[in-house]
Amino acid sequence: SSRWSLNGMTALVTGGTRGIGHAIVEELCGFGAKVHTCSRNEAELNNCLDEWRGKGFLVSGSVCDVSSQAHRENLIQKVTSTFNGKLDIYVNNVGANFRKPTIEYTAEDYSQMMAINLDSAFHLCQLVHPLLKASEMGSIVFISSIAGVVSLGTGTVYAASKAAINQLVKNLACEWAKDSIRSNCVVPATTNTPLVEHLLRNKKYIDEMLSRTPLGRIAEPKEISSLVAFLCLPAASYITGQVISVDGGLTVNGFQ
Ligand code: NDP
Repeated sequence: SSRWSLNGMTALVTGGTRGIGHAIVEELCGFGAKVHTCSRNEAELNNCLDEWRGKGFLVSGSVCDVSSQAHRENLIQKVTSTFNGKLDIYVNNVGANFRKPTIEYTAEDYSQMMAINLDSAFHLCQLVHPLLKASEMGSIVFISSIAGVVSLGTGTVYAASKAAINQLVKNLACEWAKDSIRSNCVVPATTNTPLVEHLLRNKKYIDEMLSRTPLGRIAEPKEISSLVAFLCLPAASYITGQVISVDGGLTVNGFQ
């Protein structure tokens, strides 16, 4: 039924060329949505767009560095014209991390990471608000991290930026409910993507992570994108303000 379909709906997914964002684009298209995505690398973006069109997915894309306000404004202009001033789904997926001991972060490291992870999320929400409001059933999904819930040695700046997103989601859910916009947060643990390739090769890190993960393995991007799609479905119409972990049980594991 239409409760379990995104047919005719429109979505913006940031960072769709790799990893979790790539899986989200495919998942939303699979449920019938039209998707616009972005990344910084034009060649990689065009390869993805060709591949998706070959699969019959309705995807468009533009080059955008979400840490720049000028780029964000261009992106939303593009989305406005592509989808005629209306957007049903906004997935804030882009995130980056440089791991260092806290005292070694430079001021530039700090502001760069905050710009990519948090400033982008906040300002894109401001820019996209009129489009989501026009939909009359808007849905925002943020991709946070369990690093914003528990301390995992991932670096303090990344953790703080993700924790800020976890709260932003709750406030937006309350403030924008009157505009029929829902806002939820998907919180992955270690997921098999290029972002963490170096960690996946680090046997000590992975062994420790897996020993604490009840399901005993890391996640695949599809296992994250499925929850994103569910939260955007009409079937999820009463779910807002939630921060939901997809972590194999890691964050609820006490001593065994
Ligand atoms: P990847 O690095 O594998 O992919 C990131 C995507 O975002 C790419 O398409 C990349 O393209 C794009 N991107 C990166 N920076 C920018 C930017 N400034 N502007 C526009 N596009 C950008 O990341 P993941 O898929 O692993 O991560 C996705 C989200 O999931 C992030 O928010 C991350 O923090 C979160 N997460 C990931 C976990 C993991 O273990 N993988 C665990 C928990 C959370 P390009 O570089 O060409 O711009």
